[in-house]
Amino acid sequence: MAQEDLSLGRRQNKILFQKIYFESDPVSIFSYENLKQINPIRKAIFDAAWANVQLVIRTANREIADMEDWNIVADVFQELGLRITETEAKKMRLRIFSLHDVMEMYLKNNNKFSFYSYFDHDKATAICRRGDIYINDMFFIKNPVWQLFILIHEFSHVTGANDNFYFKADIIKNQDTTIRELINLEIKEAIPIFLSDLKHQMLEKSRHVDYDKDFHSNADTIALYAFHLFDVYAKNKNGLKDSAELILLSQNNEPFPSLAHGFAMAGH
Ligand SMILES: [Zn+2]
Repeated sequence: MAQEDLSLGRRQNKILFQKIYFESDPVSIFSYENLKQINPIRKAIFDAAWANVQLVIRTANREIADMEDWNIVADVFQELGLRITETEAKKMRLRIFSLHDVMEMYLKNNNKFSFYSYFDHDKATAICRRGDIYINDMFFIKNPVWQLFILIHEFSHVTGANDNFYFKADIIKNQDTTIRELINLEIKEAIPIFLSDLKHQMLEKSRHVDYDKDFHSNADTIALYAFHLFDVYAKNKNGLKDSAELILLSQNNEPFPSLAHGFAMAGH
């Protein structure tokens, strides 16, 4: 009964849900413009992450434009311990430029972001399909640093990047603290801890026999490098928005309306 009342109220407010399929799961999605009505706290959390993405990508784009190929090769070796060729450096520069183009495209149309409930499809936190990005409940309970990383990862898929391997966020430790527990840390303090762990994981990956020098084409490594450029070259990190306090609010714990919970969609 409660669910019916909820759906009726939302129908009157003209929230449009659309049913699509991820693999074979029916998923009820709604677009960015309806996020505020569904969960204003999550709208604020998402907007902070999206603003941070813009800051990181703009900085990375500006800096890599000024770097010669050999500068990139030297930077990657010095910071990540990886040996890449100048051809790979060129490809990484083009990738960062493409990330910037994708960001501009999304700025013109925020509704390329859609949202859905984990209860309809629990296999990923975010999905990129045909250039659109779909985000579920799990995104909102991650540390703001990891949210930023997830969005850049998905943007890199829009540029054509693959998922050859992933970094692990949940095993990150700082004196036995996982990244999940870093939620109380200010984003400016969390970034160096997060990045140093990812760089360490990158080095481990590169030593593995299966590593196939896909630095410029793997979504997680592209996101890492964009993040690294921001960390090193951003003159002032005060532009970063911090949503850690919002993430802890109880309103952020309510899952999105879900087909699995019997939510009736508008138009049905
Ligand atoms: Zn991916």
